[in-house]
Amino acid sequence: MLGSKTSLLACFALATALATPASAQMPQQQPDSKSFKLGSFDIVALHDAQFVRPNDNTIFGVDRSAEEVADVLRAAGAPTDTITLSVDALLVKQPKRLILIDTGVGGALQQSLLQAGFKPEDVTDVLITHSHPDHMGGLVKGGNLAFPKATIRMSSPEWAFAQKNDQLAEVVKAIDGHVKTFKPGAEVVSGITSVGLKGHTPGHVGYEMVSGKEKLFDIGDTVHSSIISLARPDWPLGFDNDAAVGEETRIKTLKKLATSKELIFAPHFPFPGVGHIQSDGDHFKWVPAS
Ligand SMILES: [Zn+2]
Repeated sequence: MLGSKTSLLACFALATALATPASAQMPQQQPDSKSFKLGSFDIVALHDAQFVRPNDNTIFGVDRSAEEVADVLRAAGAPTDTITLSVDALLVKQPKRLILIDTGVGGALQQSLLQAGFKPEDVTDVLITHSHPDHMGGLVKGGNLAFPKATIRMSSPEWAFAQKNDQLAEVVKAIDGHVKTFKPGAEVVSGITSVGLKGHTPGHVGYEMVSGKEKLFDIGDTVHSSIISLARPDWPLGFDNDAAVGEETRIKTLKKLATSKELIFAPHFPFPGVGHIQSDGDHFKWVPAS
């Protein structure tokens, strides 16, 4: 169980690491974009930022030792003193709509979008998985709407949660009046259905995209590290609002994805974050798409 002291530490770490939109405190981020087809949809993975966090048990392995976390990292051939997380978003082009799923923290996303051949005002809909700063911080730029023509869509419990979060006051004020809420499980735009994934935040959702026979599931923050979240999905995560429910959702979702073998997008896995979850003994591993 995650104690309140650990939760506070985690919140602080999240705030300091991720809530600093495009300020001098965030190192320069490199734009990147990767396009592929999903049925009749054109999909583009967009890179926003890269965060390197110390292995200090504030986020990963909060009830474990740094050495236990290091063992998991070492087994995957990764550095043992730091954990690297990418921050990425997904663009879906349909004939009449340009849909952006999550907006990053305000790093290189806008440049990545331009690199892919689109302008911010082309975006018709922004779908938010949840209200953490590294997913909705990029909604606002210099106090203005970063995607001025877009309808912003998020689940009703998540919008209620965001409005109570003092850290988001500025973003909430800027987007108020442009937000349309939905019930988790609803089809949000044609071909894209929300999937409730509770625990990380109260109204956290993933988005399942279907075109013809092809499917892609943006699983939001169900997982964070492509190494630790899959090798030890039972370890509580400092980022989760409700650690026990987060763990239950993570394990249930990973089991389902390893069985269905469907294509997923994970916003914090190494860019472009597209691939499959595979069973590996009593845990899981990441298989990036070729
Ligand atoms: Zn999050």
